[in-house]
Amino acid sequence: SAEAQGIGSWLRLRAVKSKGHPALVFNGAELTYDELADRVDGIAAGLRARGVSRGDRVAYLGDNHPSFVEAMFATARLGAVFVPLNTRLAAPELAYMLADCGASLLISTPALAGRADEAAAGSAQPLVQVRVGADGDDGAGDDFEALLDAPPLTDLPDVGLEDPALIVYTSGTTGRPKGAVLTHGNLTWNALNVLVDYDVTSTDRALMVSPLFHVASLGMGCLPVLLKGATVLLQERFVAAEALASIETLRATTISGVPTTFQLMADDPTWATTDLSSLRLMTCGGSPVPDRVREAYEARGLRFSGGYGMTEASPGITLLPPQHTAAHPRSAGLAHFFTRVRIRDTATGELAGPGVAGEVEALGPNTFLEYWGNPSATADARTRDGWLRTGDVGLLDEDGFLVIADRIKDMIISGAENVYPAEVENALMALPGVTGAAVIGLPHERWGEVPHAVVTLAPGAELTSEAMVERLSVSLARYKVPRTLEVVAELPRTASGKVPKRLLRQRYDRTGAP
Ligand code: ATP
Ligand code: MG
Repeated sequence: SAEAQGIGSWLRLRAVKSKGHPALVFNGAELTYDELADRVDGIAAGLRARGVSRGDRVAYLGDNHPSFVEAMFATARLGAVFVPLNTRLAAPELAYMLADCGASLLISTPALAGRADEAAAGSAQPLVQVRVGADGDDGAGDDFEALLDAPPLTDLPDVGLEDPALIVYTSGTTGRPKGAVLTHGNLTWNALNVLVDYDVTSTDRALMVSPLFHVASLGMGCLPVLLKGATVLLQERFVAAEALASIETLRATTISGVPTTFQLMADDPTWATTDLSSLRLMTCGGSPVPDRVREAYEARGLRFSGGYGMTEASPGITLLPPQHTAAHPRSAGLAHFFTRVRIRDTATGELAGPGVAGEVEALGPNTFLEYWGNPSATADARTRDGWLRTGDVGLLDEDGFLVIADRIKDMIISGAENVYPAEVENALMALPGVTGAAVIGLPHERWGEVPHAVVTLAPGAELTSEAMVERLSVSLARYKVPRTLEVVAELPRTASGKVPKRLLRQRYDRTGAP
């Protein structure tokens, strides 16, 4: 058509405009834009030869690898829908997703082959499986490479911005993951938001350490960088010392991650001796950046661009560029260029003015189409006038900067006072020796609910529960201070580093403890 095309056309256009420029660097090997575009077209032909056509779902299970990017663009070229799967999930959870989206083909990397087989066997429908070779030269693993042997395609479908491109399952922090359908337009507009607001240039070298199966890394990092013709420095998985070494040796200019990513780097023994001078932009989203982490980077002259988003927004909603962090340190920033944000007072149901907390609502061409096969959840996700209901509580300050408090579902109401667990967790994380904190509400006869903290400590840290509670009493109002506090060896975490509070709450419901 004469209209803008789907993301499947990006690399073909880049192959001309950015011929010879590195698109992907992985394990020391470089793929230029023209090489990448050729491989994508070959793989698209191979997928078609294995029965994939417009609208079909192609799932991918693997850690970061160029084949992820190639498979995604090849799928998009066919007008089929790419479904990135979380490698931290167990086989039955993966089987649920494969069945839920009705995938007809599953691509997996060797490390995930066993789980792919198990999940495929457990999903309802027959699945064609394709395996990525460890390094392309061992016989067992060149199935993915064999896709390139198919005769070239001559009839590519017209794929428009309104067509579905991805089904991304949400993190499952608050319940069973939902398959958010993101269109080519959603991804394009999100990428444009990123390019406009983060000043990405074609000379940027973006270190990608977070898993691509998460839309934070895919939507905020990989796609905008490739749209712009810059270079993706892809890392198989996040290891703090390796990430630091890569920044230095590959001269990365940007890095994105979740707060835990940056915390682990700052805590690594090589942190102090690594040359970070090439970095010009660090983007961090998914949850609030703890003060301690922010301060470790500021001490080296590095400032975060914080962001707020969700899978359903492809995923960017707001961002806080470094030049505004000093004036608005607690804020998640301003709405992206093509996206709008407003607050609805949950008590009155009316739109709220500056300074009043309520549910955050977002509107923009980056907000999702629907939850796959779940019309009732889709209807619940929007207001009557079409805004996305985020399920988060926040407020807009006088300057229009968004401050996120917490999820509505995680809020604790104690004696008619709102306690935002995130605020208490931040105070706990500020105590030296505390490595993780999650605060939930436990039923209480008099107050309705009281805050309970679950904490992890650094090895050897000498902090008693009493001491922690006492320290918090200095900085927090009395009703926010946890009534009880438990130290555990490990907190449950989703692949994006978040604590699924429902699991913690379930544990206390069952045992009645503490
Ligand atoms: P599920 O929807 O399955 O329960 P999830 O909401 O955690 O999982 P994601 O889409 O990965 O799945 O995460 C989006 C959520 O992450 C937001 O709704 C918000 O609660 C939280 N979040 C994202 N960015 C920030 C931020 N900068 N500060 C605070 N919270 C954030
Ligand atoms: Mg959510």
